[in-house]
Amino acid sequence: MTWNWLSPTRFFFGSGAIADKYEEIKTLGKRALIVTGKGGSAVRNGSLRDLCRALSDCDISWDIFREVEANPSVETVRRGAAIARETKTEFVVGLGGGSPLDAAKAIAVLAVNDITDEEMFAARFTAALPLVAIPTTAGTGSEVTPYSILTYPAIDSKKSIFSPVIIPVLAYIDPEYTRDIPLNITVDTAVDAYSHALEGYLAVKSNPISDLIAREALRISGTELKLLTSGTSPGRASREALLYASTLAGLVISQTGTSIPHAMGYPLTYFKGIPHGRANGILMPAYLAFTLRNGDNPKVMEALQCSGFSSLQEFKKLMRDLCGPAPECSDNEQTRFIEICSQAKNLSNHIVRPSRQDLESMLQESL
Ligand code: NAP
Ligand code: FE
Repeated sequence: MTWNWLSPTRFFFGSGAIADKYEEIKTLGKRALIVTGKGGSAVRNGSLRDLCRALSDCDISWDIFREVEANPSVETVRRGAAIARETKTEFVVGLGGGSPLDAAKAIAVLAVNDITDEEMFAARFTAALPLVAIPTTAGTGSEVTPYSILTYPAIDSKKSIFSPVIIPVLAYIDPEYTRDIPLNITVDTAVDAYSHALEGYLAVKSNPISDLIAREALRISGTELKLLTSGTSPGRASREALLYASTLAGLVISQTGTSIPHAMGYPLTYFKGIPHGRANGILMPAYLAFTLRNGDNPKVMEALQCSGFSSLQEFKKLMRDLCGPAPECSDNEQTRFIEICSQAKNLSNHIVRPSRQDLESMLQESL
């Protein structure tokens, strides 16, 4: 077995991370573009204030692009990139959930590359502006990954850009910013982090270090997911654990990629508006059942045990409690979803390659 490991993000984890370590930003340039969400959560949770204070202390000027929607579109990132060019931005800061972080990555690419959408998704570029990531949700791990996932109407789904040049050089990971996330978003994002650890653990490209990290992420996420069924907002220690697990799971998928639940979940988000993590949660039980049906895969039971489940049934019940029932989907919609997700490259990341029929059965089982 041969494998390699690339994880170049310098990250600072903990309360007050940016205030303590902002000197690091100075090396990146004198002019920044802050990319953040349109709902204004970065103002309410204090992260924008802390960032602006740090930039100001470093004598760095900035502009703010605050138009990023959930599941950002190619059109939005093109608008952001136009501002980056106009203002001669030297580096980009993604501030918010996975959506602003992913938008920042694509903006950093488009700011310095005159390329078509297809060329961007095919990663036909060799440079991007340097990136700083400040996550305010505990889910995607985008602060350490080489992916940017965008909504792409040309394929009626979401599509990922994969390139080492969009891995953030710096990240400030501060659980204080996650303290007031509403419960539904806390659940969605926690399920996303869990799915990263699980899909990474069961990926063909998993390696000894990614497995080690995945088991830890599964252990922490499993414990925290169970606590979330109480319906009460997590306390400080749980917020920190959720964010830590999310970064760990990001490190895992940065090496292994995601697989079936992500590939199948994108059309559920695109057509049915199901939040990203919730879509994964709806699909994960059938994906595990499919994997168990197809040969001796001890890692499935290992993953469940690591996360504190004694059976697939127990896991299925938890996902149902957290993610609720799947949306109604007509036969035509199901056919379209299968058509779309069968094109996804990450299907081949899983230890068992699903056929079209397997995808159909998993979807039916999940709905
Ligand atoms: P999100 O789409 O970034 O944000 C969801 C909602 O949460 C928004 O309304 C946002 O408000 C709000 N929010 C963010 N931080 C908050 C806070 N601290 N307090 C209160 N509300 C807050 O959600 P996400 O789940 O983090 O990101 C999902 C996206 O990431 C999807 O597009 C998914 O495909 C992608 N993803 C990327 C990777 C990767 O490796 N790059 C991996 C997995 C998923 P605002 O409008 O104010 O921002
Ligand atoms: Fe995800």
